[in-house]
Amino acid sequence: MRTQVGIVGGGPAGLLLARLLGLAGIDAIVLERRTPEYLRARIRAGLLEQGTVDLLNDIGVGARLDRERLIHDGVELAFDGQRRRIDLKALSGKSVTIYGQAEIQNDLMDAHEAAGTPIVYAAEDVSLHGLTGEQPHLRYRKGGKSHDIACDFIAGCDGFHGVSRQAIPPDVLRIYEKVYPFGWLGILSETPPVNHELIYNNHERGFALCTMRSLTRSRYYLQVSAEEDAAHWSDDRFWTELKGRLPPDVAARLVTGPSIEKSVAPLRSFVAEPMRHGRLFLAGDAAHIVPPTGAKGLNLAAADVRFLAEALVAHYKTGSAQLLDGYSTKCLARVWKAQRFSWWMTSLTHRFPDASPFERRAQGAELAYITSSRAGQTTLAENYVGLPFA
Ligand SMILES: Cc1cc2nc3c(=O)[nH]c(=O)nc-3n(C[C@H](O)[C@H](O)[C@H](O)COP(=O)(O)OP(=O)(O)OC[C@H]3O[C@@H](n4cnc5c(N)ncnc54)[C@H](O)[C@@H]3O)c2cc1C
Repeated sequence: MRTQVGIVGGGPAGLLLARLLGLAGIDAIVLERRTPEYLRARIRAGLLEQGTVDLLNDIGVGARLDRERLIHDGVELAFDGQRRRIDLKALSGKSVTIYGQAEIQNDLMDAHEAAGTPIVYAAEDVSLHGLTGEQPHLRYRKGGKSHDIACDFIAGCDGFHGVSRQAIPPDVLRIYEKVYPFGWLGILSETPPVNHELIYNNHERGFALCTMRSLTRSRYYLQVSAEEDAAHWSDDRFWTELKGRLPPDVAARLVTGPSIEKSVAPLRSFVAEPMRHGRLFLAGDAAHIVPPTGAKGLNLAAADVRFLAEALVAHYKTGSAQLLDGYSTKCLARVWKAQRFSWWMTSLTHRFPDASPFERRAQGAELAYITSSRAGQTTLAENYVGLPFA
């Protein structure tokens, strides 16, 4: 087999890239190790920057999103028994969108099915070869047979645990990493959200986040130890702990119900540089991970593939490698700003087990400052809604 761009990973990054390339008349084959059923049901992110929404509309997969999304003009921070709203729209001119990543995955898979994009699901043992030569190739197994795809370029869109980043020699990659001493225990329930906008709660028992996927589906998170086992959390235990961390007026109107998903996600900041090795280009979680506090992971993945598609289209149209050569630098400039914001939001809203009394008081003062100063609120707002693409 032969294709122009071989894409490893059929998550949001891989499918967005395949769509952008397909619309530009560039051939791509996607290799994904999971089944379509698994991907369609996978629960992940839920908050989209306007730039991500615009991208989905531009590639013709925004119709259901436009009908079903919730638009949020603000976000709340709760601490020391008070609730402070940051008016994102007034401060930055932009809003954010609530629309589940599972819905985006479904919309993209439907669009690819209709367009006939070659996507190999349940591809096993995917491996990358010849990355620094003229013709790299992908190898995989399916149905007991080994297959080979010769490519002009390979896009590594296979997430944090994928094989693409690992195909880059360790002496070429620089890794920057911060592992946080806690994780998020998340619950999804068919209950109306407790508030019409997100509430980030900094409480002495630990951070809690009230978010949602729709007007009837809520998502709540609790800061727990990184080693916590979700199996130790009955629904009752979760709801009781959540109520204990929310401001009393919010706790009083919390509607509880059976969980339909419950899991613990560790929190990590991670960047692999450069995002290119020979003819391999990394995009999305394959190259960087942010703690979910800033809601940036999916949005960064979308920004990466937007740049990568632009560069590949320019290469095929004009023969110029200029944008491909600048890809890693251009992405990383934006990635590091989102890294800084995600780390800062995490530092501001979580209880660090090893924080000294001084650090706790300083954190309280920063929350008070950020929420009371227009300059502080603007800093939070313009990062939260998404920095410009340029
Ligand atoms: C609890 C939680 C909440 C989050 N909330 C938000 C949020 O509100 N906003 C936000 O922007 N982001 C959020 N994120 C992050 C977001 O979900 C990820 O950043 C996003 O999924 C990245 O997309 P991706 O396509 O790069 O990687 P992935 O979604 O990980 O997709 C990679 C794909 O590659 C496949 N794959 C892996 N290995 C191989 C292989 N060897 N061969 C073939 N295929 C392979 C995988 O099966 C997967 O389908 C959240 C994440 C978590 C865990």
